[in-house]
Amino acid sequence: MKLFEQQELYIYNSISKTKEKFTSINDSSIGMYVCGPTVYSNVHLGNCRTFLSFDLVFRYLKHLDYKVRYVRNITDAGHLENDADSGEDRIAKKARIEMVEPMEIVQRYTVDFHQTMAKFNALPPSIEPTATGHIIEQIEIIEKIISEGFAYVVNGSVYFDVHKFNETHSYGKLSGRNLEDMVANTRDLATQTDKKNPQDFALWKKAEPVHIMRWSSPWSDGFPGWHLECTAMSTKYLGNHFDIHGGGMDLKFPHHECEIAQSEAALKTNPVNYWMHANMLTLNGKKMAKSTGNNILPHEIFSGDNTILSKAFSPSVAKFFMYQANYRSILDFSNEALLASEKGFNRLMEAYKILSEIAPSEKNEFDSSVWRQSCYNAMNDDFNSPILIAQLFEAVKVINLAKEGKTQLDKENIDVIKKTMHDFIFDVLALEESNANNASDDNKLSDAINILIELRNQARHNKDFSTSDLIRDQLKEVGINLKDGKDGTSFSLN
Ligand code: AMP
Ligand code: ZN
Repeated sequence: MKLFEQQELYIYNSISKTKEKFTSINDSSIGMYVCGPTVYSNVHLGNCRTFLSFDLVFRYLKHLDYKVRYVRNITDAGHLENDADSGEDRIAKKARIEMVEPMEIVQRYTVDFHQTMAKFNALPPSIEPTATGHIIEQIEIIEKIISEGFAYVVNGSVYFDVHKFNETHSYGKLSGRNLEDMVANTRDLATQTDKKNPQDFALWKKAEPVHIMRWSSPWSDGFPGWHLECTAMSTKYLGNHFDIHGGGMDLKFPHHECEIAQSEAALKTNPVNYWMHANMLTLNGKKMAKSTGNNILPHEIFSGDNTILSKAFSPSVAKFFMYQANYRSILDFSNEALLASEKGFNRLMEAYKILSEIAPSEKNEFDSSVWRQSCYNAMNDDFNSPILIAQLFEAVKVINLAKEGKTQLDKENIDVIKKTMHDFIFDVLALEESNANNASDDNKLSDAINILIELRNQARHNKDFSTSDLIRDQLKEVGINLKDGKDGTSFSLN
């Protein structure tokens, strides 16, 4: 019997706004598509949160013995500034500024994305298709949409006719908007003269002479609209109708709404059974974003070289911090939150180690089977990682009591706790044990540096500048930089 046959998984479906019992289309196989990054700059921690939320989903589905085909794309063309239908392509803009080929930009940031996700111990998807590798498929979908009467051609560009579509379908059902309200709230932009209506969106854009990312098509030399690539690539690899589609909350409208419209228009089917949306990571209460600069990059966290954190944190600690919140909740990033997560993470990893040192008792006072099922119940309830972590800490309590001889665990129950902790900590949450050692070593190192900072402060207070400069310079020589700020002195490692 497969594990998923023994567990009842519920998924919060953004389209019905309820938790629904999960039933796969093809028995033990699942098709899951997640919108990938637009590779024009380094992924920030907010992007990583969304991808790690879906790594957790992927890993848990696999843990339940499902065969999962996980497709996550790379957006390497068609994503214009401000998510709009006009303006410069984000990748082409970066290439123009740096005077390099657009594909050099794509390569650099795809590599960065892969390396970053590997540091977080995230699994690669089963297929990682690129928009530029699927131009033919995108053109085919446009042809179908035109032949169904839901798109029109103007001056070499093709637009999806949202008003025509809405006469027979429902545009806005995912985001809970309706077309009348959209019309009422739209300011008519003089620049969008090609479109019949401002709500229409581009399927194909004729390239201006300066636009270097261009392909030939029946309508013009140009490039595909951003929403189209995900319809082309998801249906190519998962079929016209598949199980799960995910992305960040900010993609619900217009991106995912347009994907539904494209599939319903071209393929005459609702593409997805379960829509999942991960919520935003914020910094200082505002969404982390590339465009505003309000973000922190993963390598800045791992090295400690930033102005937000008092020290470096390991990838597993940063991930543990994110999993301590439900993927559907907004989460604010801060030094205090990371320090608290690090303590919790170390306590969890230490308890797992101690478990191997506990001598089994004859008697037993902890029902590990009931506890094991509550770990599953947490994940079965829409991948509720904070509840899972709370359950793991129930075991931490028992392990610490058993170590002090204050409760008894027999061999059978120790084995169940060990297997369950191993499954959930290492396979599902995919935290890395080695990080625990590094983290405690890191703690010792940062404590030692803080002692030196304190000695330097005292020297400065006593006007003994030769000693204070000596401390700073010698630390610098071994790769530790001190930074004096208004909140005191912090350090970073080279
Ligand atoms: P992009 O490269 O801009 O297309 O974004 C890649 C993914 O990161 C998308 O699923 C976004 O929804 C997601 N994302 C962007 N900003 C944040 C954030 N602050 N918190 C969580 N996810 C985000
Ligand atoms: Zn997408």
